[in-house]
Amino acid sequence: MGRTKSTNIMKKAVTLIPGGVNSPVRAYKAVGGNPIFIKRAKGSKIYDLDGNAYIDYIGSWGPMILGHGHEKVSAALKKAIDKGTSFGAPTQLEVELAKLVTDAFKSMDMVRFVNSGTEATMSAIRLARAYTKRDKIIKFEGCYHGHADSLLVKAGSGAATLGVPDSPGVPKGVASDTYNAKYNDLCSVEKLFKKDPKGVACIIIEGLPGNMGVVKPKAGFLDGLRVLADKYGALIIMDEVMSGFRLCYGGAQDVFGIDPDITCLGKVIGGGLPVGAFGGKRKIMEILAPSGPVYQAGTLSGNPLAMTAGIETLKLLKKKGFYEELTEKTEMLAKGIEAIADRRKVAVEVTRLGSMFTVFFTDKLVNNYKDAKACNHERFAKYFTKMLANGIFLPPSQYEANFVGLAHSKNDIKKTLDAVDKVFKGL
Ligand SMILES: *Cc1c(COP(=O)(O)O)cnc(C)c1O
Repeated sequence: MGRTKSTNIMKKAVTLIPGGVNSPVRAYKAVGGNPIFIKRAKGSKIYDLDGNAYIDYIGSWGPMILGHGHEKVSAALKKAIDKGTSFGAPTQLEVELAKLVTDAFKSMDMVRFVNSGTEATMSAIRLARAYTKRDKIIKFEGCYHGHADSLLVKAGSGAATLGVPDSPGVPKGVASDTYNAKYNDLCSVEKLFKKDPKGVACIIIEGLPGNMGVVKPKAGFLDGLRVLADKYGALIIMDEVMSGFRLCYGGAQDVFGIDPDITCLGKVIGGGLPVGAFGGKRKIMEILAPSGPVYQAGTLSGNPLAMTAGIETLKLLKKKGFYEELTEKTEMLAKGIEAIADRRKVAVEVTRLGSMFTVFFTDKLVNNYKDAKACNHERFAKYFTKMLANGIFLPPSQYEANFVGLAHSKNDIKKTLDAVDKVFKGL
């Protein structure tokens, strides 16, 4: 499997773009080697410049739940392009997607569209602060909510991968307004509330953490957060940028039966185009400009192409049995990996919910960021590199979720398991 073209273009890329990439995890810092440069993708496959084909479990880091280039989404986009690509004035498409989103999420009476998950969480926090007239926020170690200053404190995903969870450039004053708690540890949250009972505007939490790898909430943890938030007058922002329309049509809040005050969305709702969204209870959303004083805006927000891709994607997700099929394929893959690991005597912990999963190289349960950090990252790097050489495209970090989509066939799963067997044999 030659990679000459990718290697050569990377040499040029690093002279023009910091690190050669426009988002840090795309560089293979944690696993070594050079990233492959993509030429095209279709269905479950992604193709690099050198003509190699890979079965793709990154799925653009979540959005491609239907697989790449789904014909219905592509056809709708082609039509939309001819009508104009941006107007800076409202369209019916925004209302249509808003209706689909608020119907899917019971906790959302209203929604505002933005261009990325980062914009969604950053705006949601401003809204929570304005609504509660408080400044502090509580987040969890290893949870990632985009790259806004106040959220880049002990963050997961690329920040964790590069070992810079507290980024230079974040002012001390801003960082000091962010309290960090431990995931799956209610006491660590209660302690913060007790220390500052009238200071906390909101708790922000990933619907299902995927940015320290997939980590599941223990029974009672999310309910306990709701109780604490209510007791101390704080809001709950559920960041479902990754889990929304991914775990099921109503997201993690539907799976776990949680009623957040504000929800953030992204990834899947853009169907592969740049979209984010935040929404929640009417009384909170109505303080947003122009109906209220809390400012938030965007030149390309609600972009007609992005709305079109979102609408077409959500319509397809509504098909009966869609999520069941995804879950079944993911379970087949995860259980297959566990069986191979058993046979090959490789210690792994495969965490999984719906179509999200992570293969942690550890013999312990992974309940929080500390547990994820304690995994064997060298082993992960070897696994990643060998899987790539065997035609399987995985996220290049232990701290990430893998995604199964509609386009993955049972044969893809079987081929992936064959590769895992080969790779685990030599680990
Ligand atoms: C990806 C992600 C974000 C950031 O979204 P961007 O579109 O990359 O800005 C925020 N929160 C979570 C949970 C995410 O997975």
